Amino acid sequence: MRYAETGYNLEIDLTKGNIERVETDPKLTELHLGGLGTNAKMLWDRVPPETEPFSSDNLLIFSSGLLGGTPAPGANRTIVTTYSPQTLLMGYSMMGGFWAPELKYAGYDKVIFRGKSSNLVYVWINNDKVEIRDASHLHGKGAVETQELIRRELKEPNAQVAAIGLAGENRVYTASIEQGRSSASRLGIGAVMGGKGIKAIAVRGTKDVNLARPAEFMELCNDVLKYIKFRNENPVPNVMTILQGLGSPQEMLHTDEKWHTENFMWGNARTRRKDFWNKEIEKKWKETQETVRTRLISCYNCPIKCGAIISVPGLSTYMMKCFSKLTYAMAAFVDDLDFGFRIAQRASEYGVDGFSTPQVMAFAFELKEAGILTEADFAGCPSDNEGRFFWLLDRIVRREGIGDILANGTYWAAKQIGKGAEEYAHNNIKKHEQLPLKLGMLNPVYFLMYATGEKINITQIEGQFPQSPFMTMEEREGFIKDWIQVPDEKFKQIVLDWEPRGERSNPYYPTVDMSVDIVDWQEKMHYIDDALGVCAGLSSFPLKPPYHIHNYPKLISAATGMDMDEAGLTQAYKRNRTLVRAVNVRRGLRRVDEKPPEDHWKKRFPELEEKLLDAYYKFKGWNNDGVPTKETLKELDLGYVAEDLEQRGII
Ligand code: SF4
Repeated sequence: MRYAETGYNLEIDLTKGNIERVETDPKLTELHLGGLGTNAKMLWDRVPPETEPFSSDNLLIFSSGLLGGTPAPGANRTIVTTYSPQTLLMGYSMMGGFWAPELKYAGYDKVIFRGKSSNLVYVWINNDKVEIRDASHLHGKGAVETQELIRRELKEPNAQVAAIGLAGENRVYTASIEQGRSSASRLGIGAVMGGKGIKAIAVRGTKDVNLARPAEFMELCNDVLKYIKFRNENPVPNVMTILQGLGSPQEMLHTDEKWHTENFMWGNARTRRKDFWNKEIEKKWKETQETVRTRLISCYNCPIKCGAIISVPGLSTYMMKCFSKLTYAMAAFVDDLDFGFRIAQRASEYGVDGFSTPQVMAFAFELKEAGILTEADFAGCPSDNEGRFFWLLDRIVRREGIGDILANGTYWAAKQIGKGAEEYAHNNIKKHEQLPLKLGMLNPVYFLMYATGEKINITQIEGQFPQSPFMTMEEREGFIKDWIQVPDEKFKQIVLDWEPRGERSNPYYPTVDMSVDIVDWQEKMHYIDDALGVCAGLSSFPLKPPYHIHNYPKLISAATGMDMDEAGLTQAYKRNRTLVRAVNVRRGLRRVDEKPPEDHWKKRFPELEEKLLDAYYKFKGWNNDGVPTKETLKELDLGYVAEDLEQRGII
């Protein structure tokens, strides 16, 4: 019997209309755990590196994680993996909600799509019965609306539906996949889904997931729940409000937006409005948020409630979480922040990423002001800030006029437009738009995470180590007192010694070696979460989370029956991290690509930055160009990867 996982994948060939239930190899679970790890293995084995993202040979994999659907709180992530049309590298984006647990209960760990359908279809997975159904009547329907239409059509109110909107159908590079209470937004995976002709995937499952040692596992889960309760009652002091609790930032709960509106950049990630926030705006914003927010909601089996149901009068209801409530408003330079809630409703139905899309639009208007795009490109566009954003969003999603070029994101659009437009696509890493944040002094830890991260977005890489030093020794001692999550006591000393100014401050402190250690810890937790299917909001992302390197091995052992300890889990992380790197190296990723935007920090230190990269690569067992060495690959049971890279002349 297989425990925690079902031991079966669903393979769907859209070209042939063929559906197969395929048993998986338990050895792969031992090596890669599941989720991201086994997705990466599949991409390596089955998709040649020359494959174009929209080719029918590209795979689109929807995976639960190893613990997905078990009683482990927050084990609800769907890890969607493919080659990204935007970065051309491996794209893996996560969604919470209910979809992955439902897939497990239907009896599958993953759904793997290959080929392409000639007409728009949706897939209905109802336990053992799986069908590819015509979706021509859903063409152009909203991503949120589609979910309800399918549930009604199937007469199955409990089906979990992941769907794309018009943006995905039109292969817009910022297209997302939306489902009830979450979305997989980054890296254009919705465009790949649209390219394959899949409008939606509906799942209903009523089977059980087996656990190896259920009583022990439940006890460990109860400990996690107890810790969540403790943390909810004892927020971390002396850090920003949104960092005090668990979950992805509690944006839908908090209304104090002084920090975001005054420290994040407006427009095309260029302008800070330092005195924007005042009492009047605060009052109005609080009223707006509390009026449109009908209730706070959680994903499957989680008490944290990061998201909210949003009902703007006159518009259909949708779900929102995190900072996207402000991204459109700030990009459009409006003073009336409630615009964010209004445009996000349309954007959710279109199915677009709330971080990249506003930046693409602000970039377009900056090009217009610079005379690089012309009045003719914007013929019919209203002149007010709100109106022109709505207008351009419609054009991008429909790929009409200038919208057809902008639909490819700032990097590719700038190349296509030419005439100096590339200077304006200034906020990318690996061709992908980053958070609109510009800072003063280089932070060595963040430099490394930004430069080398393959999940691309910083919020998905950072985590358990504080973002900045505490001001006083008393605060530092208070912080480390109950810091049970640290993998090694040395991290406590770094926090104690880290000063806001002077010799022991950024950029030279944490030192190069310390920075590498910290980044490795952050990465480790993210890679483990993404293989287990546990929400980062309960593990790798917040300070002092309930899951950590000390209790994860026990949970994995009790759930799966595998004999897992910290060393074994660390080895699985290293294997997965290195395999993801190898997949991308085979697609051309090298050191030269690993750099944050030039203007991300005002004060840059080129020599130090090179040293940081050197040390990071060395620590990972990669060569100076960021390519894993033969020895490292062999040591991680990835000898076949070494052989392939050798044959290609990469190592
Ligand atoms: S912490 Fe938030 S985002 Fe994560 S599972 Fe819970 S409700 Fe969902």
